[in-house]
Amino acid sequence: MFCDIVAGSVPAFLVGSDPSGVAFLDTRPVFKGHVLVVPRDHVVTFPSLPVPELPGYIGLVQRVAAAVPPALGAQGTFVANNNVVSQSVAHLHFHVVPRTKGDGLRGFFWPRTKYADDDEARSYASRIADRLG
Ligand SMILES: [Zn+2]
Repeated sequence: MFCDIVAGSVPAFLVGSDPSGVAFLDTRPVFKGHVLVVPRDHVVTFPSLPVPELPGYIGLVQRVAAAVPPALGAQGTFVANNNVVSQSVAHLHFHVVPRTKGDGLRGFFWPRTKYADDDEARSYASRIADRLG
């Protein structure tokens, strides 16, 4: 499924991409502006990502984590990666979630919220995309 987003055959609210990966909105965000960053090549878990691909891929995760707070007026981010357990899609992805003190995050990743509509999702995606450059 994430391979289809990388290939462009399944639509997503893209926030950025580079030769190593693609970043797009999680459609069931913990907080609005929650981004998933996936490598272009299909690997299932972080440990299975070939070492030569690490700098590019993690570099994109880092750029997204830098862009999200100023783009959305958040104070920081939560960056996370589930491998196998709690990994809902079998294609490596890092979560970058905007955080602000007192935002009420309980546990790690629940409950999830929803975008009001595609326009709202598009607006979150474009704010982060603008900051990513
Ligand atoms: Zn895949």
